[in-house]
Amino acid sequence: MKNDYVLVVLKPDVMAKGLMGHVFSRLSETGLELVAMKILSVSRELAEAHYHHLEGQAFYGDIIKYLQGKLHGQHKVVALVYAGKNAIAVCRDITGATNPEEAEPKTIRGSLGRITTKGVYENLLHVSSEKEEALREIKLWFTPEEIGSDIFPTKVEMIKSFKKKVWK
Ligand code: UDP
Ligand code: MG
Repeated sequence: MKNDYVLVVLKPDVMAKGLMGHVFSRLSETGLELVAMKILSVSRELAEAHYHHLEGQAFYGDIIKYLQGKLHGQHKVVALVYAGKNAIAVCRDITGATNPEEAEPKTIRGSLGRITTKGVYENLLHVSSEKEEALREIKLWFTPEEIGSDIFPTKVEMIKSFKKKVWK
């Protein structure tokens, strides 16, 4: 398989700590192709849909707030789609283990993550963990127009009436 796709999200602690450039450099060094990127505020609906499989976990409430920026007073995240051979494994390798205290020191989480005094993992990145998950997540976070090239099958629908914000 030539191309795997992976969703990477720079979580609000990356932005709050001024680490965006550093994290980009680390991701660039993988040689993977950046195929989509946007900065956004994460709605509660998006956070819940993203982490739906973790509902019921003790940390669920915290990670919903974390992704929305409510723990950092910093409400933006950067969402990225990378493509390339073994893209998921490559990105997870440089990211490191979920628990930043257990992550290898030279990984992004190992070198820059922490567990707060309240026990929340500040682990900087979301990275899809398997192919099916990446497919679901990329479709959740991006529209086909935002990606440009059709990395997954698309269809054209006639939309009769809808509201859209436009420039005044
Ligand atoms: N998480 C947590 N405590 C845990 C496990 C997970 O706070 O014991 C949070 C952490 O922010 C993690 C997210 O929930 O990144 C999603 O968990 P997952 O198991 O998917 O870890 P990841 O794929 O991000 O390494
Ligand atoms: Mg995961």
